[in-house]
Amino acid sequence: MAEIISSRAKDIEPSITLSLNTKANDLKEKGEDVIGLTAGEPDFDTPEIIKKAAYEAIGSGKTKYTPAAGIAPLRKIVAEVYTGRLGIPYEMRDVVISHGAKHSIYNALYTLIDPGDEVMILSPYWTSYPEMVKLVGGVPRIVELSGETGYKLTPERLEQELGRGKPRVLLFNSPSNPSSIVYRREELEPIARILLKEGISLISDEIYEFLTFSGWEHFSPVTLVPELKDQSVVISGVSKGYAMTGWRLGFALASREVAYRMAAFQAHATGCPNSISQWAAIEAITNGAEDRERMRVEFEKRKEMFGARLEKIDSISYPEPGGGFYYLVDVSSYYEKCGVGGSAEFCEKLLEEVGLVLIPGGAFGCDSMVRFSFAAGEDDLNSALDRFESFLARHPG
Ligand code: PMP
Ligand code: GLU
Repeated sequence: MAEIISSRAKDIEPSITLSLNTKANDLKEKGEDVIGLTAGEPDFDTPEIIKKAAYEAIGSGKTKYTPAAGIAPLRKIVAEVYTGRLGIPYEMRDVVISHGAKHSIYNALYTLIDPGDEVMILSPYWTSYPEMVKLVGGVPRIVELSGETGYKLTPERLEQELGRGKPRVLLFNSPSNPSSIVYRREELEPIARILLKEGISLISDEIYEFLTFSGWEHFSPVTLVPELKDQSVVISGVSKGYAMTGWRLGFALASREVAYRMAAFQAHATGCPNSISQWAAIEAITNGAEDRERMRVEFEKRKEMFGARLEKIDSISYPEPGGGFYYLVDVSSYYEKCGVGGSAEFCEKLLEEVGLVLIPGGAFGCDSMVRFSFAAGEDDLNSALDRFESFLARHPG
């Protein structure tokens, strides 16, 4: 048969985070004794007030197409709230609502780069970034960061990388998935200044903005260097903060011209975002702070509990989570002892021997590591660590 798949499509692999999450859930449904700390999503139910707003939207017939960029009241409230949060002015027309932050990132990439342009991605990176760049014909330029700088980009490293050629865009994420690191103001501001000076566009993925832990504060690069606004797209959404991952609702704040093109692209590619989710998102953003904080506090408790046990395990290392809900743990000192060649094999063996599903670091460009999500109940977290410890004990080397 003639080859019918395009070479571009052949270059794209499924999302490992999504497929392993599905696999863990399938195994559990089949009654297998499996624990998965795979999910990059709050395990809490969507708060009642938000669900109620959605029921009301359905009841009052808000079930039709909306404007492609989203309904005016939602765009307005996002503009207002983020003008306050970011400390720089955004108007309704600078806001584009999409089917999740993932979709907003894709729209932004499509709008900001031409085929062949380089997009700088910091490793460990969220697994979808390089694939999304390839989907729009761009070239991912992976900058590998190490534990020596706390897995953070430094101004020196950025200058050094720019010496090798300028990317069109930096795709940036703080708090970060998978490392849960958060950039401090003094770390971020010089980076933002370099981007401004060099005219490099910025996509700032701030989807974990509300999930920071004690001692850490989220800053957007555009807050620290407001002149960067016109070359930046700031992205967030309701998935993580309000436990609304399945509602598919994210948004982008950009300059008027960029927002206009992003909306035009979306109008043809996917049409408007889900109407009901948009009405629910208004409720989340307007009245959801209390529920959001309740969940954040719970995540912080779990982070502490999980960290207190992890720190007792020999020969592993990890950055201390400042935000998000992941521990990204270097387990490479166990590879030889376990007879595995990398993170994928390590995770396969973990599943086979003790029924624990984690995400291999290879999915994030860091094969020495594995990702634990602590967006799970305390019993599951404890049981996962029991299994992890017993697995390591079975392979003393
Ligand atoms: N960015 C990062 C870093 C994420 O971890 C996720 C999680 N899916 C997203 C974006 C996408 O969020 P959403 O569910 O709103 O598409
Ligand atoms: N972002 C989450 C994760 O990393 C959800 C899955 C996905 O969209 O990749 O697990």
